[in-house]
Amino acid sequence: YFNTIEDLKGKIRVYCRLRPMTPAEQRVQHSVADVVDPYTLVINTPKGPKEFHFDRVFLPEDTQETVFEDTHTLVQSAFDGYNVCICAYGQTGSGKTHTIIGDDIQPGLATRTFERIFQLTEDHQAQFDVQVSCSMLELYNDKLIDLLRLADQTEVKLEIKKDKRGIVWVQGSRISPVTDANQLSDLFYRGLHSRHTGSTRMNDRSSRSHLIVSINIECTSRLHGTVIRGKVSLLDLAGSERFAKSGSSGDQLREASSINKSLSTLGDVISALASEQPHTPYRNSKLTMLMQDSLGGNAKTLLFVTASIAAFNLDETLTSLTYASRAKAV
Ligand code: ADP
Ligand code: MG
Repeated sequence: YFNTIEDLKGKIRVYCRLRPMTPAEQRVQHSVADVVDPYTLVINTPKGPKEFHFDRVFLPEDTQETVFEDTHTLVQSAFDGYNVCICAYGQTGSGKTHTIIGDDIQPGLATRTFERIFQLTEDHQAQFDVQVSCSMLELYNDKLIDLLRLADQTEVKLEIKKDKRGIVWVQGSRISPVTDANQLSDLFYRGLHSRHTGSTRMNDRSSRSHLIVSINIECTSRLHGTVIRGKVSLLDLAGSERFAKSGSSGDQLREASSINKSLSTLGDVISALASEQPHTPYRNSKLTMLMQDSLGGNAKTLLFVTASIAAFNLDETLTSLTYASRAKAV
């Protein structure tokens, strides 16, 4: 199946990644997950086993290398003019950021994607002039924040636009050209840093906002002058758990309802695409408006659903897996 991912056009692949239990969890919790084969996951509930099917199930012990092995061919598609979208969905603490960003010791998809893009840029050098640029946005409380512009303090109104070719762009956002993987990586980490310092309640704001990193790739044929445009978008989505529990009010409620709205609309769009419904409700949330050119149509989408296997997360795990299964309802 390693090559089938290249034929993903217009479709959505759904990968499930299970997070290992921490030593503390292992002492008091048991696992509710049985991985039957690389595509089948059984969750044991008090009412009996529930089976889920995915394009791939990654085990708790699967490494970042293993996870990227399967997706790096997708990066090539951006050089062929596709919009590639890789997103992580799941409850807070289930491994979304680990999968997309990771850390110095275990870098995630972002760093690996950056390196791959510039490897491919070199491979294309003889025939194409390749220009790479990056934009980095945060969507918080239904408001867009430009993570590459925060430093210069200017208040620019960001507006989602669509050009004649159907390409979505954000008016007022900064698009920074980059010439190698290190430069892109530096820019990315500066953007991440702004994300944390730009908030007042910095400790857990990142779990309540969506991070959207887009890397634009423009290949101009040296022979014909023709231009191929593609992009790779990486999304670290807000936590899928319902934040609005009893007792929350004001800001918290507004936050919760904007997260619920954007994630449920994303689910609606994905299931509309999977079941080939004529109407795709992109316009129902800013998140899906922003991702309109990277979901369906000329796009290749990979949804990682991350989940905990510990018994005390059973409800959230079931909810996440059910959400992700809608994308496979073909
Ligand atoms: P989320 O972004 O979904 O809130 P994180 O990615 O921050 O969750 O993961 C929570 C913690 O679990 C982090 O300390 C992270 O390093 C660890 N973790 C998550 N997934 C894995 C994994 N597959 N293997 C090892 N550690 C993981
Ligand atoms: Mg996170």
